[in-house]
Amino acid sequence: MRGMLDENHRRPRFPTRHEGAPVEPPENAVVEIIESVREMQERADSLRSAGRTIALVPTMGFLHEGHLELMRVGKRLADVLVVSIFVNPTQFGPSEDFQEYPRDTEGDLRKAREVGVDIVFMPPVEEIYPEGFQTEVRVKDLTRSLCGASRPGHFDGVATVVAKLFHIAKPHVAVFGQKDYQQLSVISRMVMDLNMDIRIVGAPTVREPDGIAMSSRNNYLSPEERTSALCLKESLDLAESMLKKGETSAAPVRKAVEALIRSRESTEIDYVSLCDPVTLEDTDTLGEETLLALAVRIGKTRLIDNRVLRKR
Ligand code: AMP
Repeated sequence: MRGMLDENHRRPRFPTRHEGAPVEPPENAVVEIIESVREMQERADSLRSAGRTIALVPTMGFLHEGHLELMRVGKRLADVLVVSIFVNPTQFGPSEDFQEYPRDTEGDLRKAREVGVDIVFMPPVEEIYPEGFQTEVRVKDLTRSLCGASRPGHFDGVATVVAKLFHIAKPHVAVFGQKDYQQLSVISRMVMDLNMDIRIVGAPTVREPDGIAMSSRNNYLSPEERTSALCLKESLDLAESMLKKGETSAAPVRKAVEALIRSRESTEIDYVSLCDPVTLEDTDTLGEETLLALAVRIGKTRLIDNRVLRKR
């Protein structure tokens, strides 16, 4: 069974960080850079004909330790690790930060080399969206809630570009972060629904020492905003402690989390959702597993975080 759901098709199967043996990058490793779709496809074909397996880690660049951890997971799962760096315009709304999204190609290539990435695929926008482009992949129900509700069209852009990257890099396995929980669910669903022969692996969220989830957008925060941003991780801890103390209803948890977030400077709640970890539909009661997903604006920066809350 490929995809993220386990054999009973209910629970998302998140990956272990320790699948396979660690692989050290060779000293003086070089990273191959490919910018053209055709060249990437030919390279993938020749790797496959030589019997080599391919892992893909799609990113929008400005790489941080969270991305690098996905790469380490990918490296353990296949012979050749391809990382794509592409700031995908179609997943940004008209009033979102596509133009300002941080970019650092030189730093990214250095980090990729240090982790032992074999190929960086970094196409220009016209290569991915040539004139006349008009096809879209839409995953329906899973994108109605959470970020799908507050960022209309976002997941159509994500699903479409990831489907394209899968056809371009032809991976056997692709690694995504659990930090973008809904994205991981959407991609896993797409792979199952479209019979893509690719194993989707999710990797745990990597955090700063104080608990803030690493994100390229953390770069936008002022020192005061960064202090306020701690409220996301603190909300996850607060909800978990309420659940462990025996709370069985979602409403008091949501209320407590909202109060915590509102008590911090410059915060504006986009959503606080307690929902089913598989369907992502809101729930009133806290079952064995409940997903708490948060999106909060800190000043102008929108941050997300989540945790699957478990009773035991
Ligand atoms: P992005 O460059 O933000 O599109 O992210 C590329 C991939 O890295 C996605 O699969 C994200 O879920 C993943 N990712 C981003 N931040 C983190 C993090 N802090 N920990 C683990 N994975 C992450």
